[in-house]
Amino acid sequence: MRHFIKLAGLAVLLMAQSCDSNETEAVGKDLLSPKAGLTPSDFKGDNHDCATVSQFGPNSYWTETLVNTAETNFLIQQNNSASNLFGLANVPLYFAGGPGTFNALSYGPPNNFIIWGEDMMRKGLEYGRPAVAYIAAHEVAHQVQFRQGYPSVRGNSNTELEADGFAGYYLRKRYTSTWSNVSAAYNFSQTIGGANGSSHGTPAQRRSALRLGWLLGQYDLTNQRLDYNFFYYYNSYVLPGKGKAPSGAEKPAGISKEIHEYIMTKITELQEINNGEISEEEFTKLN
Ligand SMILES: [Zn+2]
Repeated sequence: MRHFIKLAGLAVLLMAQSCDSNETEAVGKDLLSPKAGLTPSDFKGDNHDCATVSQFGPNSYWTETLVNTAETNFLIQQNNSASNLFGLANVPLYFAGGPGTFNALSYGPPNNFIIWGEDMMRKGLEYGRPAVAYIAAHEVAHQVQFRQGYPSVRGNSNTELEADGFAGYYLRKRYTSTWSNVSAAYNFSQTIGGANGSSHGTPAQRRSALRLGWLLGQYDLTNQRLDYNFFYYYNSYVLPGKGKAPSGAEKPAGISKEIHEYIMTKITELQEINNGEISEEEFTKLN
C-alpha cells in the first residue's frame, strides 16, 4: 500500500511537471507566433508575396533569433526603418527556424505581417548585411502595396518589380550612399527570385527596377509619387521596344521638373540594364 501511494504520488508529480512544461512551451510559442496553434508551414493558403517560390518546411518552428542576436537586431532595425520611411507603423515580424526556412514572406490583409526564415537570413549574410537590408525593404514594400493598393499599374511582374524599386529607394535614403553596397544586395536577391518569367521578373528587369528606385531615392517622394514616378519611367521608357528617349521630352504634370531632367539623363542606362547590354558585372560598377 505504501508502495502504491509512493507510485501514485510520483505519477501526480510527473503529470504536474509535464503539464507545467507543456504550458510554458505553449505560451512561449504563442508569443513568437502570429497565430496560436499554427506552425510556419501552416500559413500556406494565405494572401502573400514571398521572396522565393517555396513555403516554410513542415518541421520549421517559431524562434526569437535568426542566426544570432546582433544580426536579428539588424534585421528588425531595417524592417522598422523601412516601415518608418514608407509611413507605416513597424510591420510585425515573426521568425521561423529549422529546416526549410529559405524564405521571407509578406502577408496581406488581414494578417499584415512578415515572416522571415533562418535559412534566408543565413544565406543573405553570406552576401553581407546590404542583402538583408534589401530583402527587408522589399518585404515591407509588399506591405505598402497590400495596405495602400499599389502597384497602380497592373501587369505581369509589376508587383515584384515595384517592390524592388521601393527597396532601391529605401537603400538610398536610409541605408547607404554607396552603389556597390546596393549591387551586392542585388546579387543575392537575383539568386532567389525563381526562374526567368516568374512573378519576380527576369534578373535584368529586376536590376533596372532596383536602379530606377535608387535613382529616385535622391528625391523625397510620398508612396503615391514614388509609385507614379516608377511606373511612368519604367513603362514609358525602360520596357523593351520603347526606343531612345527623345531629348526635351515633355514631362507629365505629376512629375517635378528636376526629377524629370535627371531621370531622362539616365534613360539610356536604364534601357541598357533592362535589355542586358549592361552586363551584371558592369551593373555593379555603375556610379
Ligand atoms: Zn516579393
